[in-house]
Amino acid sequence: RPTGLARVPLRPAVEALPPYVPGARPDPGARVWKLSSNENPYGPLPSVVRAIADAAADTNRYPDMYASELVEALAQHVGVPADQVVVGNGSVAVLAHVLAAVVDAGDEVVFPWRSFEAYPIAVAVAGGVAVTVPLADDGRLDLPAMAAAVTPRTRALLVCTPNNPTGPAVRADELDALLAAVPPHVLVVVDEAYLEFVRDPQAADGVDVLRRHPNVALLRTLSKAYGLAGLRVGYAVAEPRLAAGIRAVSTPFGVSHVAQQAALASLRPQAQAELLDRVDALVAERARVVAALREQGWDLPESQANFVWFPLGEATMERAAQAREAGVLVRPFAGDGLRVSVGEVEANDAFLAIARGWRHAG
Ligand code: PMP
Repeated sequence: RPTGLARVPLRPAVEALPPYVPGARPDPGARVWKLSSNENPYGPLPSVVRAIADAAADTNRYPDMYASELVEALAQHVGVPADQVVVGNGSVAVLAHVLAAVVDAGDEVVFPWRSFEAYPIAVAVAGGVAVTVPLADDGRLDLPAMAAAVTPRTRALLVCTPNNPTGPAVRADELDALLAAVPPHVLVVVDEAYLEFVRDPQAADGVDVLRRHPNVALLRTLSKAYGLAGLRVGYAVAEPRLAAGIRAVSTPFGVSHVAQQAALASLRPQAQAELLDRVDALVAERARVVAALREQGWDLPESQANFVWFPLGEATMERAAQAREAGVLVRPFAGDGLRVSVGEVEANDAFLAIARGWRHAG
């Protein structure tokens, strides 16, 4: 390494970034259950594998830059015109593009905390100033407090529903009240990554809200319910002018041809029906896991997603290590709590046995 030369300084905002800690992965060859990343435990459908294999033959060519066919399919799926949909390589990238389109240096972005750990990173990288609003005690978003945190410098709010990692979904009346309180030039991003797992009839319907409020952008993903986490396909839904702005700042050719074809295959009616049956099975597993945990004596927030949150405070890291020892990878947030994904029946049973042991250990 050359010495005596000034090194290139990083942006102060980059020096100060909190780490994004991915969920633990199994050691090679280890027989453990992976409940650490809110993944879909089911492998891809045969029809999706075939689409991937067929698409592989075209990898010497760039993909369709704007993924027109996929955008059209997603637009139909959501029930909006195609000019309202923008795709990207995972909704985490789409979030970065949304912020790049609206946030100027020093603009404030309000988001709940604890929530998705990409938020503080995405806001800082965009040059924004993070304004965090604590969750209510039951793990729900405190939307009145978020509305109260809006200042003349606020450019956007991030609403995570269901909230990762605590699990509750925002109710329709709560979101309506937030939008009534927030000035119409402030963007409200509604992150619906776990939308398909929501069963609460009172939960907010993002598309309905977007129809009434053009300052809303929805974030969706095929990583969770559709089981394509490894291929990275997410999208935003927004009014056409905002969508065009998001598209303009997006990574060129950001969604590979293989990913586009896999996503298209997943949205075909037959495939979609099978995938949503699997979601129903996971929702049934969630109900079984939560009931068993309550039976064990745990007091947990309500989950509308594919994970359960244990507010364990200082015991968190030790519990995560114990779970790993016992063959289950979970996701600890140091000093705060443990997030455990709902996975295969056997994986959930293995975790329930661990949780029972914790109750008995006191
Ligand atoms: N939003 C939330 C709330 C999430 O939990 C996740 C995944 N952890 C994402 C967005 C990003 O998902 P992806 O980039 O795979 O689409």
